[in-house]
Amino acid sequence: MSKMQSILEKLAINPVQAVEDYKKKTGKGAVGCIAPYTPEEIIHAAGMLPIGLWGGQVELNKVRAVLPAFACSIMQSIKELELSGSYDILTAVLCPSSCDTLKAIGQKWTRKDVPMIQFVHPHNRKLPAARTFLAKEYQHVRERLENVIGEPIPDEAIVQSIQVYNEHRAVMREFARAAGAHPDLIDPKTRHLVFKSAFFMRKEEHTALVRELTALLDEAPVKPWDGPKIILSGIMAEPDSILDVMKELHIAVVADDLAQESRQNRVDVPEDGTVMERLAEQWQNMYGCSLAYEHEKTRVPMLVDMVKKNQADAVVVAMMKFCDPEEFDYPMIKQTMEKENIPLLQVEIDQQMQSVEQFRTRMQSFVEMLRHE
Ligand code: SF4
Repeated sequence: MSKMQSILEKLAINPVQAVEDYKKKTGKGAVGCIAPYTPEEIIHAAGMLPIGLWGGQVELNKVRAVLPAFACSIMQSIKELELSGSYDILTAVLCPSSCDTLKAIGQKWTRKDVPMIQFVHPHNRKLPAARTFLAKEYQHVRERLENVIGEPIPDEAIVQSIQVYNEHRAVMREFARAAGAHPDLIDPKTRHLVFKSAFFMRKEEHTALVRELTALLDEAPVKPWDGPKIILSGIMAEPDSILDVMKELHIAVVADDLAQESRQNRVDVPEDGTVMERLAEQWQNMYGCSLAYEHEKTRVPMLVDMVKKNQADAVVVAMMKFCDPEEFDYPMIKQTMEKENIPLLQVEIDQQMQSVEQFRTRMQSFVEMLRHE
């Protein structure tokens, strides 16, 4: 087995197994972080394992009684997993109130032994008062967690965790660059696996593996790619079967703007201020995301720049079914891509998708169209 394959195998993690192994090894528990932005550093500083909750391909039954059919697909599956007890292995769950659906999830939480800690991201983010407000929200998260685990989470431990997370973000940005240059070695599903595995490992461990992987990619010769090169944008590109279709069609994902992937690593936690203020300021500095309100919508020119910088052929928006924040951004993206003459495709993402045939047909036609551009 090659060195690269052996690293990728270590990154192919079963989340339930990861939680159980972590508990056995450390005696500490795991805290679920409902997508997409939570102050994971506080959990990490408590010595616990932060676990990203991004739903999954589950049959929807129980959720039908509590969420309307027009709630987004990811929250439908998160709620189904909660109601069926899959999250009972967790110590607590953190949930931001970034959109209406997330607010509803927090209000409808049913697991009494797994406390839900909800907090609010201020939408008018740039005001100094927003930083003060969010720092207080994060302090509240910290105090609730301290109550749950029965131990204080010291400032010094959070400072150290911030360093670990900033280092991880830098390494992931480097991986994204190296993977974009080597689509022959990192196909769309493998690229996704590397990003997703970060939600089930302590970040220092993930950093070490991805750093090694990136070094191997950087050593490999850059080969010409004759298939279409795309930028993926949206909340997430799952289920994995759609990434398999991209591989079959010889499509390279040369960069992404997915909430589950590169948006996680876009902005570091700054150096100045108290620990809570620093974490809050990171949210103030976030850009290019449908959930982080900004009047000027930097996401749109950012996507144009990404196309130019990565010499991509097109942008594919992976539109999460019934996601209002993403749907609001789409008309602006479409208008600008038309003006810039950049091919654009919107595909619907439904985690419960049973068949990828419709997706395959749309991607095939898009690839044909790109060949004749
Ligand atoms: S941001 Fe979109 S995908 Fe995420 S919870 Fe809200 S509606 Fe669902």
